[in-house]
Order: sequence, then structure tokens, then C-alpha cells
Amino acid sequence: MEGGSGGGEREKWNSVSVYRECLRNHAASLGSYATDGCGEFTVDGAGGLQCAACGCHRNFHRKVKYPVAEHEEYGGKKRFRSKFTADQKEKMLGFAEKLGWKLQRKDLNDEIERFCRSVGVSRQVFKVWMHNHKNSSSSSSSTPANVSSLTQ
Ligand SMILES: [Zn+2]
Repeated sequence: MEGGSGGGEREKWNSVSVYRECLRNHAASLGSYATDGCGEFTVDGAGGLQCAACGCHRNFHRKVKYPVAEHEEYGGKKRFRSKFTADQKEKMLGFAEKLGWKLQRKDLNDEIERFCRSVGVSRQVFKVWMHNHKNSSSSSSSTPANVSSLTQ
């Protein structure tokens, strides 16, 4: 007998590490701090750990962990990860700012549901994403200048 697990696929949580901006101090010999401005580690295709954009080792790039939902098909050997597209990230960022980075908004429940459906992420995914980004944005900058200016 089958239990009531429901659905043809399971969703698991996994985290994926991405390497963001290069933090290597190129002005260390001058006694100051300057990065090369590389915004994201770029894989060079040969599988090396050198950034194809700035040439620095991957360890110089800021490591960020993302939760991703991993879909696993029943009996399937194939796995694929759903990562966010740039479009999804942009929409989530905008909506999160609109919500003030809080999902505990009963009055906006419908709107949140509608947003998640339109973007193609589950509410749980959005919640975790928001949690992570709220932390990373508040720890790196003390005054997010663009938050209030976005209110319409
Ligand atoms: Zn670099």
C-alpha cells in the first residue's frame, strides 16, 4: 500500500555555493585596499579555479550559499537543479523590498501567493531566498539607500 506522500516528484533542499565579487586586494603593496572590480567568479571552461574575468583564484571571491530545490524524479537517475534566473532574482528582490523583507504579512497573503505563482517559485523557496538575502544585505552595508526610494 502506498502512503499519502502524493506527487510524482520530491523536493529536497540543497545548497549551492556561488562565488561572487572578487575581494583580492590588489593594492596591498601600497598599503591600501582596492579590488579589481570583478563582480562574479567566471568559470574558465577548462575547469580551473582561476577566474576567467579577473584571473584571481576562486578563493579570492566571496562565497555565497544559496538554497536550491532539487527535484528528484521517482526512480530516475536524472537530477536537475533549479536555480533562479536573473529575471526571477530581480523580481524577488523587488518584491522583497516591497514587503520590507518580511513574509509574515497576513494582509498580503494573496499577493504573496500570486507573486510566487507568477515568478514560478514556491513560497518556501522565496522565504528562504529572502532570509538569505536579507542577512547578506544587512551585514555588508549599513544603509541600503535604495530601499526607501523605491517606495511608490
Ligand atoms: Zn580578482
